[in-house]
Amino acid sequence: MEGPNDKRGGGRRPVGLAVRLSYGTIDELVERFAVNISRGGVFIRTRDPKPVGTPLHLELRLAGGEAAIRGEGVVRWIQAEAPAAHPRRAPGMGIQFTRLDDASRALVERMVELKERRGLAPGVVAPAPIAARPDGTPAPTRAPSPRATPAPAPAQAELAAPHRVEQVAAGPARVELGLPATPQPVARPSRAIVGIDLGTTNSCAAVVKDGRPYVIPSREGHNTVPSIVALNARHRVVVGHLAKAQLLTNPKATVSGAKRLIGRAWDTPVVQEIRAKFPYEIVPGDDGVAAVRLGEETVTLEQISALVLREVRDVAQNHLREEVNRAVITVPAYYNERQRAAVRHAAALAGLQVERILNEPTAAALAYAYGRHLNQRVLVYDLGGGTFDASVLELSDNVYEVVSTGGDTFLGGVDFDNRIVDRLLARWEETTGAPFPGEDRVALSRVVDAAERAKCALSERSEYPVSLPYLALRDGEPVGLEALLTRDELVALAAPLVDRTLDVCREVLLAKGLGTKDIDEVLLVGGQSRMPLVHEKVAAFFGRAPSHAVHPDEAVAIGAALLAHSLGSAEGVVLIDVLPMSIGIGLPGGRVKKIIERNTPLPARKQYGLSTTRDGQTEFELAVFQGESGAAAECEYLGTLRLEGLPPGPRGMVKIAVGFELGAECLLTVTARELNTGREVRAVMSAREGAAAARRKLEQGGGAEAAKAETGNFPAPDPAARLQAAAAAAGGDEDPVPTSTGALGGLLRKLFGRRTEAR
Ligand code: AMP
Repeated sequence: MEGPNDKRGGGRRPVGLAVRLSYGTIDELVERFAVNISRGGVFIRTRDPKPVGTPLHLELRLAGGEAAIRGEGVVRWIQAEAPAAHPRRAPGMGIQFTRLDDASRALVERMVELKERRGLAPGVVAPAPIAARPDGTPAPTRAPSPRATPAPAPAQAELAAPHRVEQVAAGPARVELGLPATPQPVARPSRAIVGIDLGTTNSCAAVVKDGRPYVIPSREGHNTVPSIVALNARHRVVVGHLAKAQLLTNPKATVSGAKRLIGRAWDTPVVQEIRAKFPYEIVPGDDGVAAVRLGEETVTLEQISALVLREVRDVAQNHLREEVNRAVITVPAYYNERQRAAVRHAAALAGLQVERILNEPTAAALAYAYGRHLNQRVLVYDLGGGTFDASVLELSDNVYEVVSTGGDTFLGGVDFDNRIVDRLLARWEETTGAPFPGEDRVALSRVVDAAERAKCALSERSEYPVSLPYLALRDGEPVGLEALLTRDELVALAAPLVDRTLDVCREVLLAKGLGTKDIDEVLLVGGQSRMPLVHEKVAAFFGRAPSHAVHPDEAVAIGAALLAHSLGSAEGVVLIDVLPMSIGIGLPGGRVKKIIERNTPLPARKQYGLSTTRDGQTEFELAVFQGESGAAAECEYLGTLRLEGLPPGPRGMVKIAVGFELGAECLLTVTARELNTGREVRAVMSAREGAAAARRKLEQGGGAEAAKAETGNFPAPDPAARLQAAAAAAGGDEDPVPTSTGALGGLLRKLFGRRTEAR
């Protein structure tokens, strides 16, 4: 059996140790306790130090009892009595951290950084500790290394009394984060319906009151709430401005940009690319979708978005002084079905009933044209924090018809920031002669933040001085970064990015045989579109200055509020949308066959027939993908349609009609009917099977039996022809798909005339 003073602490049960410090706030703690901390550990004053080697579950608490630093450690040395030079100093123990949670690690980092800024290098501040061996004899003192040492630094500050050390029950110091986990049913729908722009960078709510739409100000007096969720140093979940405040000091526990991840499978190229760029941890969640780590919990992106939505909802309720549980929520036009469903789920978690999911460009067009009885073709140019979208809409009185849409999911404000960051890091190398310490996340976050500030400032002025003192320590000396950025420099860095947005505009126009002259107005939305270079290049490209009729940050929320308002009023609007990305089925060899093409007007239906390939076959499987590529690996996996309970029969004799139905809001329903008996077979859209599994099956040519059936029975060389043949042979007719947007729009206009209902 190990003795109580076993130095290694191996195999011993950890002792729970809660230390109540006298500081009321985190800021006070950072300011006054920093001298007691190094990256490797902490010195705790106590008249009753634990024996060297004691493993600890450690919790440092503020005066009010909230945990500030939590983790595990081992007592490495004890200061049994006061040093001669400081007779009033209390004894204590040096604890080496063996594990800290993310928030605590970030707080320690902040304290060490402060110490460094004050010129006290970590680990060199302390007088040599009086170390004790397990048997109480003094151990030889080690010379502390100038760099962060794992050994804790003892206190320099003179504290009146030892900290209050409380022994607590051993066990993991884990606290549930209290995140929304189950949908909150709406018992009594509220009178008010708000429009919510759930943005990548910021979110906001708008409402129509006394006939006037406006964005609801947040508690802090801002018009938007940052779409950021974080775990603070007290292990509490914070949202919005509070979360943004710790983006710099605690990037690992601060989740931003959830909009880019929500509803995406973890193993898709998009998620892997984002993973490499974002400082927080992105992990596979249940069902193979992307999730994030917050502290010790795996949190879904729906939960993160629910917290942002809840914050926005609270802002609205406080402002309107009434309950709000109904909303119109906007999403990017390119969002696929899973992403839309995920947003609905997030809203349900936040206690919101979604009246409509509205595409952002349509919302912007509503903000521009609602109630103005216009007859125009407009292009909505939406350049936000992370993505770019271009959509052409035909506006005819109260009919808003999207005719073409496209975008780039990896082109937004952050890319502009990154160009400036690269420029600043090059400057660092020039002046210091050494590479930037990229592993120092806090230092890097400060540079990223400065880059964004510079970019925004250069929208107003011609030059901007970047000044970042104390970014790193070199040879014990603090080193900073100073650079003067000019607008001309920014233009040179950013021009290729703006050109890429214009390539997308060109493609979106071309898809409908349109030229720039066919566009009556260009509406700029998204924060990044405020950049003067964007205005200039857009004006040159379209041969006309963009409209100033909509606010780039508020138009989307305002449009959502107007739609919400129209739902309850006689002045309905008709929204006609297109499918933003093609929908197809998986074929053997990892290929995808498109079933409904991109830009198909909604609602749309497509039906075709399939038949069995094996004798006695009783079930079919069909993987559904969305994207423009012919390769499944590059498309978004939507789910697997499983047709069960087929009547056993000879191969090819059991025929199934499969139908794809896209609603006006782009929600996909897949149905299946067995034709021999006329009875409906059960069709299950399964998103449980991850994308990887579905693709693997397809690559092995084994999974998609429906696709096999199609090839097996109708070996025509061209997949489209095969599909037609399959449809014909199986008796599944190709239902008329509305192919002409003009025809549908015209029909609706004829049907509804001036006064129409929003769908
Ligand atoms: P959004 O997602 O629409 O809120 O857009 C956020 C992006 O707009 C961020 O990358 C911001 O840096 C950028 N942004 C905001 N204001 C400006 C400005 N005045 N000039 C340039 N970029 C801006």
